Amino acid sequence: MNVLILGSGQLARMMALAGVPLGIEVSAVDVSNHKVVNPLDKKRLDIHLETAIEAADAISVEFEHIPEALLEQVNRSGKLMPSSESIAAGADRVKEKALLDKLNIANCPYVIVDDIAQLDQAVATLGETLIIKASRDGYDGYGQWRLSSKEQLPEIKQALAELDLKKVPLVVEKMLTFEREVSLVGARGKNGQLALYPLVENLHHQGQLHTCVAPAPAITPALTAQAQNIFTALVNELNYIGVLAVEFFQMGDTLLVNEIAPRVHNSGHWSMQGADTCQFENHLRAICELPLGSTEVIAPSVMLNVIGCDLPSKDMLSVARTHLHGYMKTPRAKRKMGHINITAHNYAELGESMQKLQKWLP
Ligand code: ADP
Ligand code: MG
Repeated sequence: MNVLILGSGQLARMMALAGVPLGIEVSAVDVSNHKVVNPLDKKRLDIHLETAIEAADAISVEFEHIPEALLEQVNRSGKLMPSSESIAAGADRVKEKALLDKLNIANCPYVIVDDIAQLDQAVATLGETLIIKASRDGYDGYGQWRLSSKEQLPEIKQALAELDLKKVPLVVEKMLTFEREVSLVGARGKNGQLALYPLVENLHHQGQLHTCVAPAPAITPALTAQAQNIFTALVNELNYIGVLAVEFFQMGDTLLVNEIAPRVHNSGHWSMQGADTCQFENHLRAICELPLGSTEVIAPSVMLNVIGCDLPSKDMLSVARTHLHGYMKTPRAKRKMGHINITAHNYAELGESMQKLQKWLP
């Protein structure tokens, strides 16, 4: 089988790796120039985009911010999974909020701003600690501005002045104080089969994920049920095919949805070692109409992102049950270079392994 992925970064690479044992060949489209590449080494393949679309059995994305013309072109093939509406719901925060509100899914209080003067009204409605998000093209904390007091308003307005808010409005959210961030990654097949991973806990630094603990400690059955009900409502509404990630803020017994990602997700990388079937394989299975694999946890896991610097020395592998996944990229500030998966018998042992790893980490 042939799968074509829009986007040629590490997520496409890890899908390609997961496809190998299944005989699923994954190629990728570099969205900056529409060239078809091998996602394992990013080398150009001798095939035109049109031919690759024709040859593919299924087409998917590793990234929701796909240029519109490309997405439309691929959509016409009828092979795009998840659907372009699902991708749009993850790419556009205004559509995302509309979807959540339509399904009565709790999310952060917000207002949509398409004129800079409305920011004052937003402060009056939501208070003066705000997080201002561009409705499109934001990820890993990019396209966000934080307001911690009214005094900063002029400065923020100046920073936002060059944006065309009529074209790309802002979603202004109340800055919430939550207990922690958790996420649910799961797959849905064409026949409606679901395969859900457990809730995991996500630790962020400067708006970017750096550590993920799977399963999240101290999750009650009620919280799991809440997350799974929300996930199910979303995938049913979207008639979703493939892996979807839902990010939540936990506030006591309540989960608020922060955002959804219509693709494999950084908070699912632990599943490469920690679960019976990893998220990348389950995504391929879903879009290739194969039965989904078990998401059972094989071992409690921690995933550590390596961000903005060279990968640690491979000597780190001397710490038992550690696995290094490099993405073959050149370091740049805030760039995800790879991740480390650690598995153990229990959380205490995970902590000990993290301690031992410290000397190899920046
Ligand atoms: P991205 O697309 O960059 O992941 P998010 O909306 O998930 O954007 O924001 C990135 C991070 O910023 C979140 O994981 C969370 O830590 C923080 N954040 C986002 N929205 C809020 C909010 N309303 N209140 C408090 N923290 C927030
Ligand atoms: Mg996020």
